[in-house]
Amino acid sequence: MAKEALFCSFCGRKKAETQLLIAGIEAHICDRCIEQAHGIVAEEIGHDTQVKSGAALELKKPQEIKEFLDQYVIGQHKTKKVLSVAVYNHYKRLLQPRKKGDDVEIQKSNIIMVGQTGTGKTLVAKTIARMLQVPLAIVDATVLTEAGYVGEDVESILTRLLQAADYDLENAERGIVFIDEIDKIARKSDNPSITRDVSGEGVQQGLLKLLEGTKVNVPPKGGRKHPDQKFIEVNTENILFIAGGAFDGIEKKIAQRLNMQAVGYSASKQEAQIDHQNLLQYVLPKDLKDFGLIPEIIGRLPVLTHMDPLDKATLRSILTEPKNAIIKQYQKLFEMDGIVLTVDEDALDFMVEKALEYQLGARGLRSLCESIFTDAMFEMPSNGQTELLVDKAYAAKQLSGLLLDQLKAAS
Ligand code: ADP
Repeated sequence: MAKEALFCSFCGRKKAETQLLIAGIEAHICDRCIEQAHGIVAEEIGHDTQVKSGAALELKKPQEIKEFLDQYVIGQHKTKKVLSVAVYNHYKRLLQPRKKGDDVEIQKSNIIMVGQTGTGKTLVAKTIARMLQVPLAIVDATVLTEAGYVGEDVESILTRLLQAADYDLENAERGIVFIDEIDKIARKSDNPSITRDVSGEGVQQGLLKLLEGTKVNVPPKGGRKHPDQKFIEVNTENILFIAGGAFDGIEKKIAQRLNMQAVGYSASKQEAQIDHQNLLQYVLPKDLKDFGLIPEIIGRLPVLTHMDPLDKATLRSILTEPKNAIIKQYQKLFEMDGIVLTVDEDALDFMVEKALEYQLGARGLRSLCESIFTDAMFEMPSNGQTELLVDKAYAAKQLSGLLLDQLKAAS
């Protein structure tokens, strides 16, 4: 099979859309499906997962939440701040049940993140779930279809959450669902009556009730609802939904809106203040509506935030700074063989330049590392050497024979 045609045999994602694709004899499986399958195995054999059942939720203050995020997610300060507050409010609402006679009902602070792929949306959701020690389900909106059509029902989202919670209902009901590629279920046309839009607006309608908070009958093993199947009733009232999407082309709509606003007596001043390199920072709910999300969905995802594009400095930091930074991971791998790995500054800069040059993004950094270190990881465990110094010349040599397509396919 041609390399670029590789895809996960379970969910159909292309290799480029996965973080890792493992090959079997006649099939492939991606990192997400492995995680899900692990959940199922854990359930079948009663294995203990990391999420502690019924563990008391320890709620940190927004600043502490941001500090935790800072350890794993580089840059994206605005989003980390907004999310810290949203998560804090969400769990505050959850931990303090409404008193009798109290008219003020705090609504859910579900979140929507707009940002190019590979800028850390999934990472943010994962990090929040890790901090709170609540179960996390990562689902792809593209596989969902309106009930009765080929594809997965929206309820399958909750099946995944149940699996992530090791079928502990109480734990699942305060978990987090990350819905990736929400932009792909945008309304396909302005006139939905011509053809039924079962994977677009139909799914948005289906998601509405989950986002708001309702009791849903969930088939515990997933798949289609079946009359004979037993259901688990899941209340989504306290589940935090985080949606993410690249919304390709939304910048144009934002620019149009900003231009329109800029026509006026203070036009030149406003125009000068607009940062055209990062238009996403000006995103408003109206832009999502223009893109094709229905107003009801936008209303149920009230916290709207954006991811900044990754610049040189950010990519450079991603290599070495986060708690589980890529270089730290390789150092650990080498350390297990008694080898000290040092990557000098020039080599790190070189890797970032290549990632930018080839437009590989943050995911590309890993494939670059893999290409640079593979020879050493193959030879050094056997040849008795205990030190590896990677400088720019070494990195360039390791990458020299590689084709851009190979790197792109691996990232
Ligand atoms: P998205 O969900 O936006 O497509 P991901 O969160 O899956 O992107 O990011 C892909 C990988 O790139 C992550 O696993 C992480 O290693 C790295 N990465 C991306 N953005 C950041 C960031 N801001 N800080 C640290 N690592 C990042």
